[in-house]
Amino acid sequence: MSGRSTRSALSLASFAALALASAAGLAQTRTAPEVPRVRLVATGGTISARGGGGSRLSAEEILQLAPGVGRYAQAEAEQFANVASTALTLDQWIRLAGRLNELFDRDAGLAGAVVTCGTDSLEELAYFLHLTVRSSRPVVVVGAMRSAGTPGYEGGANLLDGFRVAAQPESRGRGVLVVFNDEIHSAREVTKTDALRLQTFQSGSYGLMGVVDPDRVVFFRDPLKRHTVTSEFDLTGVSALPRVDILLFYQGAPDDLVRAAVDNGARGLVIAMAGADVTGGSLAPGIGYAIRKGIPVAAATRTGSGRIAPASASRLGEGLVAAEDLVPLKARVLLMLALTKTRSASEIQRMFTEY
Ligand code: GLU
Repeated sequence: MSGRSTRSALSLASFAALALASAAGLAQTRTAPEVPRVRLVATGGTISARGGGGSRLSAEEILQLAPGVGRYAQAEAEQFANVASTALTLDQWIRLAGRLNELFDRDAGLAGAVVTCGTDSLEELAYFLHLTVRSSRPVVVVGAMRSAGTPGYEGGANLLDGFRVAAQPESRGRGVLVVFNDEIHSAREVTKTDALRLQTFQSGSYGLMGVVDPDRVVFFRDPLKRHTVTSEFDLTGVSALPRVDILLFYQGAPDDLVRAAVDNGARGLVIAMAGADVTGGSLAPGIGYAIRKGIPVAAATRTGSGRIAPASASRLGEGLVAAEDLVPLKARVLLMLALTKTRSASEIQRMFTEY
């Protein structure tokens, strides 16, 4: 991680070879007076991948691909990492949350932050930051589906939108936001729904939080669950996240997989159940094994949306926690954080109800 800071004005010469951005777009990166200061913290992903598997674009380089950013924000950039999202470690997640908290703590004049991330696991990192960044100032996560240099690369447009949202005072207090395709999603609800399409990030039946339109950024709703400043999760002093595994129910799923997870050190489990009926099916004996060993088990649904009620979960035994409406990936993020504070199933159930 580097704290290196760079204002957005970079030499055009360094980009001639890229042939990606129009000269007009680059010229517009000059900063308008009195616009808010927003910092890009780049972690990598397709937004910074050159087509053809070549070297990767730096934070400063992708900033140059967001035409006209200077109209909305005084853009700064730092390189936190430059890897695919799936290569980011959980230790890096902790350090990234720490870095964002440090930026906001030390820099009262910073209006917000934009984090670039690969799309494949972006929804997990975004929800982790939603629960661990302790500031009301906006953190906006963006990425791209098409790598730089391919026709229709949308990274610059998404980055520009990210800066516009992060610079907006109206974005404060709404938790971590994911901005793609001119749409604003809550980190809690957004999921990647397609491996390739540009419209992959969706919030299902929750719907958009807002849009980034040509004239202005518009919000339609607020997240009501606890996040950021109202979150109880404080990573100060947390150096590692506990192992939490996700196991999927499917017809005939062998319960020895659940036992294997427990025996190999899982401190918590999320089971992606078939529906809202938390019987566990063929996994039930393994779930019982985990609970007897004192391992909190959260029941989520594999359906992609819908809610597991605490009353349904408790039918399978004390210690089974209902993940409420969190999809399994997000339930795992919350359970990892919950386990940094408690092992009590009732306390963890409270957290699943509140976050
Ligand atoms: N889509 C990949 C990810 O989620 C990015 C691949 C890359 O960065 O080269 O991180």
